[in-house]
Amino acid sequence: MTTLALLHAIGSCSLFASRVFMPAFLTAALLRFGPQVPLIGALGLLDTTASNPIWFTSDACLWVLLVLSLAELVGDKVPEVRDFTHSIDIYAKPVLAALTALGVVQATDAEFAGSALHHAGSASLIVVFIAAGGTAVTAWLRQGLLGWIEGLDPDDSLHLRQFISYGEDVWMVVGALVLVVLPLLMALTLVAVGVVLALVRKTLHDQEQRGKQPCPICGVPAYRCAVACASCHGSLPQPRAVGVLGQPKDHAAADLAIHRAQLLGRLRCPSCAGRLRIGDVGQRCAACQQLPFELVPAEGYLNYLDSQRNTALALVAALSLVPILGFVVASVYVQLVLIAPMRIHLPVGRRTLVKWGLRVARWLVFAVQWLPGPNAVVAVGFTFVQFRVYRRMVGEVLGQEQVRRASRE
Ligand SMILES: [Zn+2]
Ligand SMILES: [Zn+2]
Repeated sequence: MTTLALLHAIGSCSLFASRVFMPAFLTAALLRFGPQVPLIGALGLLDTTASNPIWFTSDACLWVLLVLSLAELVGDKVPEVRDFTHSIDIYAKPVLAALTALGVVQATDAEFAGSALHHAGSASLIVVFIAAGGTAVTAWLRQGLLGWIEGLDPDDSLHLRQFISYGEDVWMVVGALVLVVLPLLMALTLVAVGVVLALVRKTLHDQEQRGKQPCPICGVPAYRCAVACASCHGSLPQPRAVGVLGQPKDHAAADLAIHRAQLLGRLRCPSCAGRLRIGDVGQRCAACQQLPFELVPAEGYLNYLDSQRNTALALVAALSLVPILGFVVASVYVQLVLIAPMRIHLPVGRRTLVKWGLRVARWLVFAVQWLPGPNAVVAVGFTFVQFRVYRRMVGEVLGQEQVRRASRE
């Protein structure tokens, strides 16, 4: 076992925290072909790489990892696939990190063969454990940050989650190269990344706790926006108004019926303000066990959506006075305030289908935004059509849920 392999194992944790297969593929490919590349071929791990391919750098392993990496690359851009892989990749990441660490130890240890097998085995075990453990912790820290972003914007209306995904792809390629050529630098980077992520996670946790106060009846912490306590169901005095990103505002909510609809529009329980799941109008709140769309009847929710429409259309028209930039700002507002409260209650299939249809239309609308005058007409018209499409779908989904509930009773 070389010190370089140990440093590589430590540094690799920051890459495996983000992806399962890509860091493994890039590491294997660099170990196999890196020594032939001028300038970097004699640096770091590449200098010590054994000449004969082992299992980790074999053709078969490289092909399998390449195919899985490409599937991962594309899959991470599709929210529906991402939701699914999130539930399993927290286990897959440490496993792949461990296998890669083992592959690196064996590929870079010239004495690894035959008689030295037992010796190399016990030493490499330490490296493998460090890689797996470090990856598990870093992946957990990263999940805290992404979970917070998804909580604020469950539908990724602002494309922040998508932006992070592309950023991580770049980080994979650059990081994998640095990891092999300068393992010490990458090991130090991991410490920096870990400290930053841990601080962010702690700050977010504290902030979440500050958003709560003890229930006056039972003492269990309740959200400041909550209408009733999740634990004892007692009503809470003067719930705070809820912001666009689900955060409590400084003033109390004026109208309770509108406040409940607003909470539901931010994917929060209309009673206890706990987080709900996206795309399931029949769900029970995990915290207080109530049915959100029983607390806010379908009729009431649709009326609330309609009340948001005219303000949004007026704003889009006003912002059109600034060509191009106005449309960009208006789009963010429309997506967050008008469209997200409808999209988040649609099932996955419908949500994806409409998104792609409207995406094409949005580019066409964007294309005329440099023309003052027509830009306002087109932008307002497009916003109206978008609203109608989603409004109709939400109406259908809520109607079906009402029928289902009636047949159960
Ligand atoms: Zn209580
Ligand atoms: Zn609840």
